[in-house]
Amino acid sequence: MTAYEELMGFQRETEALGQVMGRLSWDAETMMPRGAAEQRAEEMGAMDGVLHARRTDPRIGAWLEAAEPEGPVETRQVALIRRGYERSQKIPADLSAALARTRSLSHRVWAEARENDDFALFAPKLTEVLALTREMAACLAGDGPLYDALLDSYEPDMSEAGLEAMFGALRPRLVDLRDRIMGSDRVVPALDREFAEAGQLRLSSALARAFGYDESHGRIDKAVHPFSSGSGLDVRITTRTQPRDPFNCFYSTIHEVGHACYEQGISRDYLLTPLGRGVSMGVHESQSRIYENQIGRSRAFTGWLFGQMQAEFGDLGIADAETFYATVNRFSSGYIRTEADEVDYNLHVLLRFDLERDLVAGRLYVDDLEAAWNERFEKDFGVAVDKASNGVLQDVHWSEGYFGYFPTYTLGNVYAGCLHAALRADLPDLDAALAAGDTSPATGWLGEKIHRHGGLMTQSDLIEAATGKAPTEAPLLDYLDAKFGEIYGL
Ligand code: ZN
Repeated sequence: MTAYEELMGFQRETEALGQVMGRLSWDAETMMPRGAAEQRAEEMGAMDGVLHARRTDPRIGAWLEAAEPEGPVETRQVALIRRGYERSQKIPADLSAALARTRSLSHRVWAEARENDDFALFAPKLTEVLALTREMAACLAGDGPLYDALLDSYEPDMSEAGLEAMFGALRPRLVDLRDRIMGSDRVVPALDREFAEAGQLRLSSALARAFGYDESHGRIDKAVHPFSSGSGLDVRITTRTQPRDPFNCFYSTIHEVGHACYEQGISRDYLLTPLGRGVSMGVHESQSRIYENQIGRSRAFTGWLFGQMQAEFGDLGIADAETFYATVNRFSSGYIRTEADEVDYNLHVLLRFDLERDLVAGRLYVDDLEAAWNERFEKDFGVAVDKASNGVLQDVHWSEGYFGYFPTYTLGNVYAGCLHAALRADLPDLDAALAAGDTSPATGWLGEKIHRHGGLMTQSDLIEAATGKAPTEAPLLDYLDAKFGEIYGL
């Protein structure tokens, strides 16, 4: 066997164990009995120990030294393994295991605090998670900035400064659009009745199929927070239902299907290798958001959905398909990021980006986080936060140590804007298919341009190869201006 083959054989087993650990996390959020949290934390710590030992195994260094990769695929595999090896070596095994255990426990405490609207219940655990995360960031960063080291786990090669520039360009135009929508006298009706859960779940599954989700290589369960999990031949998603808001269920499902189809669409040649996963969280989010918004909330597709909903639920209290399109895209300034319209969504992310940078830099203490959140929310959205579950406790991320993750949501929207402009230029007749509930021309285009490549290219090369241009925020802003300008008569 060549050194490259030995390296890949070893890596494949590590990747397989990584998938097992991911499935434990999936289980913790779907099936695990409440009382099992402490034991699960130990299980996660033990698994992390096994994985950390493999990821830092000195044989990897020797194989990397001796490997002679041929062609772009092998070269990229080696580059990604080297990157992972160098990063893992910087983190001590006991710190890595402590983080895995604490994250696992913290999730349960967060869920309880959220149920009770009691941030003080969660603050000590979050302080612990933040301290360990900062310690890890310091190991990774060397002399560099801590936040960049964290960001690098989710969006390689992206920097805080680069994001600040992009978000700085986004904010004024988003705020301006938001102000103009709020000044509009056009009234867009909301749904105003109950929708049976069984019907919501039936239509949610139909939507997953319509967007190409392969249930023979996945499954759909209910969870507090919708998420997708796994890669290759086992990619699972979750969704949730609310009696008076079926869109929450439908668009959560479509969103997670976007993530899942990316993973399911990666070339089987890359299965259980570093190339066999989405290249970055930003690109991942671009797929979920383009499925959910640019395709799923398009006029053509909502025309089809209107008929499906009437067939499932009877009269919706909405006059016609055109009104329904506006209802689906209704601007509704609210507390919750995952329920936000497309304009407010990014402002929710920018708030988190600023607060978490302060936390990581040590400029803000966890004990002051709730007050800082509430103050900032009122400043940005003009409304006082009424309870912690509508504010600082709404998202799961920080409980699991995902600092540096939130900005990838807005980055995903930016990438989605670029991809959507290119997709529309390539597929001028797309709306005819969408109006019949057929998303395959669009999802096929994304499969070809993005999904099948997995981690073969860097994210900026991938977007540039797909669109012919380096990614910028302009297409997203133009899309939002045009869409909401029309709906609100601006
Ligand atoms: Zn997502």
